[in-house]
Amino acid sequence: KVKESGKHGVAFFKPEYMLELEYRVHLEQELNQAIINSEFEIYYQPVIDTSTGKELGFEALIRWNHPVRGLVPPDDFIPVAEQTGLIVPMGQWIIKQVCSDLSLLQLNNPEYFIAINIAPQQLADHGFVQNVRAILAHYALVPAQIHFEITETTLMNADNGNLRVLRELNNLGIKLWIDDFGTGYSSFSYLHKFQFYGIKLDRSFIEGVVDSERSQNIVKGICAMGDALKLELLGEGIEQREQAEFLLKLGCYKVQGYWYAKPMSLPTLNMWLASRKENPKMEMIELPSA
Ligand code: C2E
Ligand code: MG
Ligand code: MG
Ligand code: MG
Repeated sequence: KVKESGKHGVAFFKPEYMLELEYRVHLEQELNQAIINSEFEIYYQPVIDTSTGKELGFEALIRWNHPVRGLVPPDDFIPVAEQTGLIVPMGQWIIKQVCSDLSLLQLNNPEYFIAINIAPQQLADHGFVQNVRAILAHYALVPAQIHFEITETTLMNADNGNLRVLRELNNLGIKLWIDDFGTGYSSFSYLHKFQFYGIKLDRSFIEGVVDSERSQNIVKGICAMGDALKLELLGEGIEQREQAEFLLKLGCYKVQGYWYAKPMSLPTLNMWLASRKENPKMEMIELPSA
């Protein structure tokens, strides 16, 4: 991710005359200003249950509505926010905003959850768990309806303090997912140390399942392992119906992807939800009985 942002992220915006360090300071100031000016917006991508066709919840994905550059994707600024520590206050704002939005979305369906991406710096922040607890209480949310996503890379670098924070979150009732599963260094040792709620199969594996036997076998292997360890499975980046069918046959019925819905602003999401009320089973896949 850092590599990617270096290519078309950070470098993309960097004016010719600025040195790398100058640019970072500049972006840091811009991010600070953006927090003050409320230029951030949370988009939501639905998580679909392909066995029923229903939406189960949403993943929160941040966007930056930059006054000049327009909508900036997270890969272009999250790495800098992480390096400068700005991700900590930003992350706090995100959790608050998500909880506020979820309390409204749950008027449609109290079962809805929202998954939030958590950066390693947030886990290291002293007040983190207490803060989360206070926000949940403020919005009267059931902790089980809030999910946190931690990447393999974060886990790889986690120390005992971070691990303790994960346990505290778990005890609070928050569901913890390993994000981008399979792309980082092996998280097997963490699967061994800690009972996660589920794993999110990275889009890079899903991409190949329609025509690569190799990808099919990797996905089969991950699903079998997930099953054996009693982990929920979620397929990311579904762009074709066949990909969802393949996953469903393996018992992975939770999916996200452009095939179903792109991340949307809250008003757009509300329209999307309203349109589905007319045809709630729109996305259901019926497998031929064996
Ligand atoms: P992620 O958590 O793995 O999120 C999934 C990414 O895949 C999102 O990109 C989403 O828009 C994209 N995606 C979903 N379905 C499809 C599909 O069918 N095809 C393709 N090509 N892409 C799909 P996005 O929103 O640009 O976010 C990128 C990454 O930025 C996220 O990866 C996450 O690591 C990070 N991020 C986003 N929001 C936050 C946040 O609030 N906090 C933190 N710490 N990181 C965030
Ligand atoms: Mg994620
Ligand atoms: Mg992911
Ligand atoms: Mg990702």
